[in-house]
Amino acid sequence: MPYITAWSSETASLVTLVVRDGRLGYADETAGDRDSAGVLWTRIAFSPGVGVPQFANVHFLRQRRAMHGLLCQVCGTPCGKSALWMLSQKEYESAEGPWPAPVMTSHPPVCPGCVERSTRLCPHLRDGHVVLRPRRVSPAALSGMFYRPTPTGLVPKATTLAHDDPRVRWLRATQLHVLLEDYDLVRLGGMLVTTKPAA
Ligand SMILES: [Zn+2]
Repeated sequence: MPYITAWSSETASLVTLVVRDGRLGYADETAGDRDSAGVLWTRIAFSPGVGVPQFANVHFLRQRRAMHGLLCQVCGTPCGKSALWMLSQKEYESAEGPWPAPVMTSHPPVCPGCVERSTRLCPHLRDGHVVLRPRRVSPAALSGMFYRPTPTGLVPKATTLAHDDPRVRWLRATQLHVLLEDYDLVRLGGMLVTTKPAA
């Protein structure tokens, strides 16, 4: 099973939200509820392999770990400089032309050894995909539930905010998006474009 796939045993826990120090928090918050940038993350059980794999669902914590540590989303091993991104061609091709840099994505990388497996495992890659090898990866945005503070309480709304948006302090994050800058196009629609090794 892919590393980032959520299992049926991995349910989100019930939490009590509070406003503390001018930002959203949990009543019983612990250090593990925030990432190194201080972003509050949605709590989810961690029990991969227990229950039934939920192919349509990504596990929030493993998605974030894969993005921060450049772990392969399929096998979970650190990819380092050999990290590749496989993206659906249809989903990402912009109106301005094919593959302009930079690309923002919530899909974690894959290692070179898992490229073929990913094509088989991920239905969204079957109708044409590209493989990118970026020279620069930086945090770009966060998705999750944004709680707008109002005089009558917090009003939730699912949203995506730039990672440096000051409103991130009112977000309970579920996904990290990264920016792929200055990349090589390794493969386009199943065709090899370059075999240049990672620098
Ligand atoms: Zn892998």
